[in-house]
Amino acid sequence: MKLISIILTILLCLCAIIGDYIVFKSKYSESQVFRAFSDSSVHAIIGLISAILFFTYDVGLTIQARFYNAAFCTILSSLIDIDHFIAARSFKLKDATNLKQRGIFHCTTFWLIFTLLLLIYTHITKRTNIYTLTYMAVIAYSTHLIRDANRRGLWLYPFGHTYPINKYIYLILICVLPKLFAYSYVYCKPTFKNVMYDSLV
Ligand SMILES: [Zn+2]
Repeated sequence: MKLISIILTILLCLCAIIGDYIVFKSKYSESQVFRAFSDSSVHAIIGLISAILFFTYDVGLTIQARFYNAAFCTILSSLIDIDHFIAARSFKLKDATNLKQRGIFHCTTFWLIFTLLLLIYTHITKRTNIYTLTYMAVIAYSTHLIRDANRRGLWLYPFGHTYPINKYIYLILICVLPKLFAYSYVYCKPTFKNVMYDSLV
């Protein structure tokens, strides 16, 4: 394992631990506004570090492509929480944070079907950029849902919710998944033909 991967894995673990502390146990945690923004920021930072960690493995992309994909992963990791507002049908933070029902983007089944469809599409069209974006989405939603599952469990529609995931299991998963996804990316990659186009994305 490269030194940079080890450093990033430790950083990822520390961000999850310190981030959770700041969001839920600091003196500002009483504030809904603070919790909402800090929680979203922690999701984004974990998504970013996970994407960088993914790209430390030899996945064969240009620096530019890695940068754009990591940015996409960071934004999506945080944007998943937008479904609180969609489910509440309101832009008020108070409505969004007092929901009993979780939004569609917090449904693990939704993301698994979404991933499957994208992978089928990628294997048919053989487009590298969609293949990479699929993995970025996988990193974004898996880190987000696993982190949330530490408090609320995973929502596996139509079977309901699992029990909350143990803190240590959540931290181990967050740290090892980027590497597993990188291996999967390399070994399951179809043979692509449009190299010129993909190098731009
Ligand atoms: Zn969430």
